[in-house]
Amino acid sequence: MKILAKFLEILVKKLYKKFNYNKKVRMTLKDYEDYNDTTICYICGGELKGDKVLDEVHLNGKYTSAAKNECNLRLLSIYQ
Ligand SMILES: [Zn+2]
Repeated sequence: MKILAKFLEILVKKLYKKFNYNKKVRMTLKDYEDYNDTTICYICGGELKGDKVLDEVHLNGKYTSAAKNECNLRLLSIYQ
């Protein structure tokens, strides 16, 4: 099962790079308000303290929510 998971991980990374799915984020007014009002990292549930970044779906550029920078980078590293 681990071999299959690794194979799929490599395949997804190759497809991600091949089709350059890294779209620039597009935010609505509601997204900006959500980002400004959010105090909890949507990834780990921890309190955001000065390392707040926005997260977006790289496939379509849609805003997801606010997250800690370290959580966002950890999530991003899965796809690169
Ligand atoms: Zn987090």
